[in-house]
Amino acid sequence: MRGTSSVIEPGSMLGVLGGGQLGAMFAEAGRRFGYRIAVWDPDPDAPALKLADLPLTAPFTDSSSLAVFAGSISVATYEWENIPVATGEALEQRVPVRPATRILKVLQNRLEQKTFLASKGFPVAPFRAVLSPDTFAVPEDIGFPCLCKTATAGYDGKGQWRLSGPDEVHLMQEQLRRYDQQGSRWVLERFLSFEKELSVLVVRAADVDCRTYPAVENLHETGILRTTRVPAEIEPSAAERAVDLAASVVKALEGVGVFCVEMFLMSDGRLFINEVAPRPHNSGHYTLDACTVSQFEQQVRAVCGLPLGEVRLLCPAVMVNLIGEDLIRVGSEEGLINLLRIPGATLHVYGKRAVRPGRKMGHVTFLSEKPGEAWARALALRRALAGPELPETAPQKRL
Ligand code: ADP
Ligand code: MG
Repeated sequence: MRGTSSVIEPGSMLGVLGGGQLGAMFAEAGRRFGYRIAVWDPDPDAPALKLADLPLTAPFTDSSSLAVFAGSISVATYEWENIPVATGEALEQRVPVRPATRILKVLQNRLEQKTFLASKGFPVAPFRAVLSPDTFAVPEDIGFPCLCKTATAGYDGKGQWRLSGPDEVHLMQEQLRRYDQQGSRWVLERFLSFEKELSVLVVRAADVDCRTYPAVENLHETGILRTTRVPAEIEPSAAERAVDLAASVVKALEGVGVFCVEMFLMSDGRLFINEVAPRPHNSGHYTLDACTVSQFEQQVRAVCGLPLGEVRLLCPAVMVNLIGEDLIRVGSEEGLINLLRIPGATLHVYGKRAVRPGRKMGHVTFLSEKPGEAWARALALRRALAGPELPETAPQKRL
């Protein structure tokens, strides 16, 4: 219902751009509150479309779909950051977009994002813009090893390369020439030998109420998040600093919605921000089972102008992603029976039709009052999925 009140009431339609698992979980949370949901995703197989009152599958640039979407919804949000800025801006003429498109614009481009963070004095790895393959060089303050990342459209470690020495510079240039499209940009940054990777979910309301979930610890394999452990096994003072840092980033952005701040914790205790996402995050899936209010319900609350929910962790948890063929193993009769016999194990399957290597198909969260027990159970699943050998943890492609 559109009215003068800043609260969007149940019965109204909420629009989400992007229809992956994050959009599906947002739709579920919205429906539970009595909202209707419009989902727009150009992939007709996107899981959230099945939960939509209004499903749209045209490209995001389609003007008649834009008119239908904008005309049906009271507020728009998104579940991934590669939404065209022009679509967000056009929507914003008609309905609130939360987080605002100006934030999407900054965060969807690694170069703009890092420049913003550095300009506000937040700690980021030393970086440089790479404007063309020919001018690619590694300055002294970055040094080796370093990483080159595409400025836009990278995810799950895609579009990233690691350079270990000066003899690889020409290989990198060749690589960039292969990827070069008009206007392509990359970010070159120092490789940080971190001790742990952390992330913190921040929820911020239009009335600037701001809440933070506890710091979690993330393990990536080949650039893809594999395991999240909460609470992170770190000094309480480091966890506190991580949470404060994340909240100040979202405050600096003046963001309304759910944000995830990914960080590196160094062995000397320093924290660096890796990246910021203007949406719920895979590392926050544990909130569905281990918290009073999930990150998706918070997204609904924040975008609708409702009071934010508690961010209380009810129980230590470890989440394991099911990637590609993992789902076939877990979904086999034996795999499923073994998994569901484990106390505190919750299974989430995203309902994607095609199983592809590297595609996130589902996740399992292990809950236990004893953090060590949840971890051991998660590790046992991880090992069962991997067979005898765990894949290497280095995310970036070798040149
Ligand atoms: P994506 O958008 O694919 O998540 P990230 O920039 O978060 O891209 O990189 C993916 C992973 O690569 C990170 O979670 C981390 O494990 C590793 N990584 C990224 N940047 C650095 C860095 N500067 N130093 C060390 N590892 C890094
Ligand atoms: Mg990341």
